[in-house]
Amino acid sequence: MTAVLEQARTALARVSGCDLRVPLVQGGTRAYANFDYAASAPALERVTDRIAELLPYYASVHRGAGYASRISTDCYEAARGSVSRFLNSADDQVVVFTRNTTDALNLLAACVPGDTVVLDIEHHANLLPWTRRGRRVVPAADTVEETIRRVVAELCAKPAALLAVTGASNVTGEVLPLDRLAAVAHQCGARLLVDAAQLAPHRRIDLCATGIDYLAFSGHKLYAPFGAGVLVGRRDWLDAAPPYLAGGGAVTEVGVDEVGWAPAPQRHEAGSPNVLGVAALAAACDALAALDERAVLEHERALTERLRAGLKAVAGVRFLRIWPDSPDSVGIVAFTVDGFEPGRVAAYLSAEHAIGVRDGRFCAHPLLARLGVDGALRASIGLGTGAAEVDRLVEAIAALVERGPAWNYARTAGQWNPVPETRPGLGGVAGAAPCSF
Ligand code: PLP
Repeated sequence: MTAVLEQARTALARVSGCDLRVPLVQGGTRAYANFDYAASAPALERVTDRIAELLPYYASVHRGAGYASRISTDCYEAARGSVSRFLNSADDQVVVFTRNTTDALNLLAACVPGDTVVLDIEHHANLLPWTRRGRRVVPAADTVEETIRRVVAELCAKPAALLAVTGASNVTGEVLPLDRLAAVAHQCGARLLVDAAQLAPHRRIDLCATGIDYLAFSGHKLYAPFGAGVLVGRRDWLDAAPPYLAGGGAVTEVGVDEVGWAPAPQRHEAGSPNVLGVAALAAACDALAALDERAVLEHERALTERLRAGLKAVAGVRFLRIWPDSPDSVGIVAFTVDGFEPGRVAAYLSAEHAIGVRDGRFCAHPLLARLGVDGALRASIGLGTGAAEVDRLVEAIAALVERGPAWNYARTAGQWNPVPETRPGLGGVAGAAPCSF
């Protein structure tokens, strides 16, 4: 088991910050245990190496004749191929570079020629953009099967252009059967968009095999935190829609009174692009595609199971789940601890144990309301996570329940913080400027 767990943490999958030590509120330092991959994952060292290699050649894209410009342009355009191979996209699917998933979904929302059907479990990024046209929200049922029946009923009752679903819930990690949803959408004359912000870092996605029409994800959750995201999808809607931004690069010809707009992807990429972000994203796609899929999956499953089993044994820990019959779940565990506010627990884990988790409502307010909680903790696992960190998290929660925190905590400026804050760089130490790194 240990061998399998460690196999995925080879040079191919090493992440930056894995040797990071951070200060503790009671003094001294400890190795940082990062359980916040679902928010933003650390960079793969392969990605940072690639950026370091490219930086000397960083120059204007598409418009320069100089050698560095040509290299930058080639890297930018070649990145579409990396994304396309990573997702096994179809010939009529184009790769449009965006800032992140939110940007990609807003772009598609401006292109959809009709209503969009969504579930009420979505991240706000896959809930709010569709209101611009017709958005119809289907409340998820208590099982995946019943939820799919409700989606079919909605799609049959009134035509919709798009069904937009999450690939993996950012709260519970639960995964929907995407091939079935694609089939259902197509039978009803709709297309399927998958918000893969959480799925892409954890599972191989095959657009051709599943029949997914559109897919969005963010580089910063895919071990490439340099500000680029992606929308991949069928060309016709993207070519027919008005350009996402009006400006240079999106045009074929401009007169004073008339404009010839370029087809996608250039149509939706006006302005100077984020060359390094896109190159980083491509490097992450290439690196993830080269990993041993089975080993990565086993590593994640073993650690997630270990975390669930450990927390389950702690009195007062309750897990958040949407469905009992979800076919799969990525390495995300959301939970509450009876008698302790999530924000206070997160502050305690950080200050006393050097453990980073996320707390709150995870930009999924309707889902949290459905689950009957107004906040929770979320521990998310990635390629740099090891069994020792999982055990540390479980032991820290058990110690909290048994003995309570060893420090004082208070809500200041809308967030729980240790009082006094003694860790350098966090603004609480006399004379230390905030963000002094
Ligand atoms: N969709 C899901 C499922 C997410 O988890 C997130 C971010 O947490 C987003 C969309 C938005 O991603 P971004 O902030 O990179 O645009």
